[in-house]
Amino acid sequence: MIDGEPQEPGEPPVDPPPGCADPLLWRVARALHQAHRPRTDNFCECKAFWPCPDARLAEEALLLAYDRPPPRPLRPGSGRNSNLGRWPA
Ligand SMILES: [Zn+2]
Repeated sequence: MIDGEPQEPGEPPVDPPPGCADPLLWRVARALHQAHRPRTDNFCECKAFWPCPDARLAEEALLLAYDRPPPRPLRPGSGRNSNLGRWPA
């Protein structure tokens, strides 16, 4: 029986914390974090050695989601579109 989820100390909250820069990324990263947890036998829930790459990614993404630098405004016509569809040789 799961009666709500027990909040372990140090666990990121399911909902984006106040001041979170990117709530969507937070939720995605939090879900990934949830799926990759250490078990008692030093393996991850995904059966890879702990910490598995996905767990590390989740942690990085959570940090990034919380503290993302403001995106640079895209300026139309800044000269990059001319190369769309073909790569420089
Ligand atoms: Zn894993």
